Amino acid sequence: MEENTNEGIPIPKSFLSSDTNAPIQRCIDCDHDLMLGDRHYMIEKVFKRYPNLDKLEVLFEYAICSVCYEKMKDALSAESMANLSQYMMQNSDMSALQKRIEENPEDPEQWLTHCIIKGTAKDEMKEFQMGACFRGDKMATDFMPPFLIGELAIEEMNELLSEETKGEMDDFMGEHFGIPPELRKDFILI
Ligand SMILES: [Zn+2]
Repeated sequence: MEENTNEGIPIPKSFLSSDTNAPIQRCIDCDHDLMLGDRHYMIEKVFKRYPNLDKLEVLFEYAICSVCYEKMKDALSAESMANLSQYMMQNSDMSALQKRIEENPEDPEQWLTHCIIKGTAKDEMKEFQMGACFRGDKMATDFMPPFLIGELAIEEMNELLSEETKGEMDDFMGEHFGIPPELRKDFILI
């Protein structure tokens, strides 16, 4: 990730720790203190809406520092990673996202109302994941915009992965994040 300025937008509520409502303090892998602000980091959250519950559950969430993020990318098959970025580039509706950003420049929650790939509204989905890049207690949109990806797109992206890559992801996430393999298929490492 690039060393660069941030936009000065505080961490949106939906990216705070769901346990403490405070910023996620530590890298899930190396325990680096992310609030020092000396490294970019990614936050990923996976949400599931269970039947008979009107509230969304956070299936899991983590922050990973740029150093560990690069290590993770290196541990996964280059071909599968290239397939995923190609899928993202070809299918993301950036103009819809851009429009939401322009309409609500100060309110990133409003940028994340629809799947960036399929355009499905968050409220209509049973499962989706959200990710964004941060530095210290600010969101960093210069590297990538925050995104929301819904169940259909997650399924399609999982189909792009070789069995070998799925195994690598299961191993990496089990070993480094403590995430069991049965949850791995519910989201995609980006
Ligand atoms: Zn780390």
